[in-house]
Amino acid sequence: MKFIPYGKHHIDTDDIEAVIDVLKSGWLTQGPMVEILENAIASYVGAKYAVAVSSGTAALHIAALAAGIEPHETLLTSPITFVASANAGRYAGAKIAFADIDPETINISATAIESKLQSMDGIKIIVPVHFAGLPCDMERIGVLARQASAVVIEDAAHALGAIYPSGKRVGSCENSLMTIFSFHPVKAIAAGEGGLITTNDEAVYRKLLRLRGHGINKLDDALLQDEWAVENSLKNPWYYEMQELGFNYRITDIQCALAVSQFRKIDNFLERRKTLAKQYDNAFASQDVIKPAQVSGRDASGHHLYVLRADFGKAGTSRADFMRQLFSRGIGTQVHYIPVPAHPYYRGLGFIPEDYPEALKYYREALSIPFYYDLADDEQQNVISAMMELQN
Ligand SMILES: *Cc1c(COP(=O)(O)O)cnc(C)c1O
Repeated sequence: MKFIPYGKHHIDTDDIEAVIDVLKSGWLTQGPMVEILENAIASYVGAKYAVAVSSGTAALHIAALAAGIEPHETLLTSPITFVASANAGRYAGAKIAFADIDPETINISATAIESKLQSMDGIKIIVPVHFAGLPCDMERIGVLARQASAVVIEDAAHALGAIYPSGKRVGSCENSLMTIFSFHPVKAIAAGEGGLITTNDEAVYRKLLRLRGHGINKLDDALLQDEWAVENSLKNPWYYEMQELGFNYRITDIQCALAVSQFRKIDNFLERRKTLAKQYDNAFASQDVIKPAQVSGRDASGHHLYVLRADFGKAGTSRADFMRQLFSRGIGTQVHYIPVPAHPYYRGLGFIPEDYPEALKYYREALSIPFYYDLADDEQQNVISAMMELQN
């Protein structure tokens, strides 16, 4: 019997040929495929600019720096996310705060953001995470951020292809300064490793380009040292300037060729995932013990994960045993996520998960079940049957 993991990428012969072609092209690191990927995603999501980088984590890091956060300031995010959403603020030397989730959506609650903004000074960046692909309430978060003069960076690592209520795509930055995506293999499209930032702000775009490449001037950035740059009124052909402290967060042409080839299939990927999600929704809608975690917004989601909430005690079991039983039947599951404030590093900074009761309650009940493009209907049916049997 074939093992069914909780998530998996899909690679076809076009993807393989795209990578082989780039190996024959003469470019390995940053070459023409980088801009092709940037332009394709910018136009798909409806943003002016896109900057591709080596990972979603790198994207979050330089986005936080481009937002201009200072060490005495705070980055506010959801407790239910991958650790990278919060770590971005720590990389920039800043403080972190969390606002509890809305149990209906598992997204950061706009009401909880509002009370944090009222009770705390110095929140500079808000990072809403579109959990499992479901867009956060960006209109309300945008209003709150503007009132507090905070910058919004959307963590859309789960949400390539997701749509806001306005009809625009996540990444268009209609209520944010920047949006980040990830091309980790388990995400919507795979690059091996990779990430991307979209923005409509030219100054931010230029800053991101510099931060990606060692802080060296890019495009037609003004040079700061004329006497070094120019001789006899001509620019010296070798001359460049490192104008700030940047990084090597370049993405390779190999990775971008794969991502571009994957991106051509995005509509098919999303359509299949949506179908699978609705089939799961129907199967679990009227169950007592196991329920879909995100009941609404199926048509708007980027469908990254399929998450259930279960009262394992009611089924006379524990989550760990339930997962082991499924595993022995060839079915992989996972928990997304351990609340970020529960990790030892964040506890060491003084956080306690009990301060986020909805996140903690959700964490105790959460289970992500197999959900990916290549999951066949009969395999999905096996997953559903196994879940039904085990809950009784
Ligand atoms: C995957 C992920 C990231 C980080 O992306 P990488 O490309 O793996 O660095 C950030 N935030 C969230 C919510 C993610 O799921």
